[in-house]
Amino acid sequence: LLVLGIETSCDETGVALVRCLPGGGVPALLAHALHSQITMHQAYGGVVPELASRDHIRRVLPLTEEVLAQAGVPLAAVDVVAYTRGPGLAGALLVGAGVACALAAALGRPVLGVHHLEGHLLSPFLSADAPEFPFVALLVSGGHTQLMRVDGVGRYTLLGETIDDAAGEAFDKSAKLLGLGYPGGPALSRLAEQGDAKAFALPRPLLHSGNLDFSFAGLKTAVLTQAKKLGAALEVRKADLAASTEAAIVDVLVHKTLAALRATGLTRVVVAGGVGANRRLRAQLDAACAARRVRVHYPELHLCTDNGAMIALAAAMRLQAGRQQANSDYAFDVKPRWPLETLDALEAENS
Ligand code: ATP
Ligand code: MG
Ligand code: FE
Repeated sequence: LLVLGIETSCDETGVALVRCLPGGGVPALLAHALHSQITMHQAYGGVVPELASRDHIRRVLPLTEEVLAQAGVPLAAVDVVAYTRGPGLAGALLVGAGVACALAAALGRPVLGVHHLEGHLLSPFLSADAPEFPFVALLVSGGHTQLMRVDGVGRYTLLGETIDDAAGEAFDKSAKLLGLGYPGGPALSRLAEQGDAKAFALPRPLLHSGNLDFSFAGLKTAVLTQAKKLGAALEVRKADLAASTEAAIVDVLVHKTLAALRATGLTRVVVAGGVGANRRLRAQLDAACAARRVRVHYPELHLCTDNGAMIALAAAMRLQAGRQQANSDYAFDVKPRWPLETLDALEAENS
């Protein structure tokens, strides 16, 4: 079974092809292609939804052709066309959904709408060291920060989440305050490597809240206050402030992940989403988990941020697990807001 996946929820156009193996197991990634719009949005300091939609339209078919050529597979061989149904920017989602449904209708094949966060969550299955269920998932992306108990495909229990900004947002907003451009997470992280993480005492919000929720909105205010206090000295202390900011975010993420492991009694962690590429997070979590005999799994670095591979994979795994049927109702709708925990309820409603 060949599944084509199309991702257009935000500022990356991603297309990929996976094959379900007859004996079961993790579907094989045959090819994937990605176009990032980052340079286009940089001039505006953030994603411009209208420009994002227009660019997806320009990119999605050439990328699809590229993927088919790479895999050496004709379009007619595709069995199911999957697309990101949400959450994300409505206009951007509509491009992927529209193209997917048009392709599927032309081929006489069914479509399958995928939850973007389920894609992130399952992306570590594409790495050489694939996880096994059950596990605790730390989902840390640009728009979400959640701890989840994952018992299988489609079996997600929310343990805690951010009550305001996401971890990626905290990285990006702090980076912007330090003049590091957009999206500043990776830049802040690079600069932090030359700084002293103990130089500034920044808050670790909700660290001892006793629950598994996060809060990062106060951190950017603290970074701003510190930057103002430094004034002209900021230039020479920027790496120290970046390192201290990164340490504050990472400390909270690691602390809460360990608390989730204790609360669930599970001994496996899966990290997913763009912030999962962060080196300090990986090092600190690896060390903490090794000491507790807990296994940690990450997506491959290039699959941490948005991509088509995770969408094709999630669709294939849902089909394999019997969680969802592909259907030939091409009257699609997208879901810009769509909590992952409500995925099951939606399945029930549709079946
Ligand atoms: P969502 O999936 O919640 O809709 P998104 O798709 O925008 O949001 P991702 O693509 O998963 O999010 O991740 C992008 C985020 O990851 C950005 O906030 C970016 O700054 C952050 N990020 C990427 N690499 C790093 C890094 N090395 N260190 C810290 N943050 C990083
Ligand atoms: Mg992005
Ligand atoms: Fe994402």
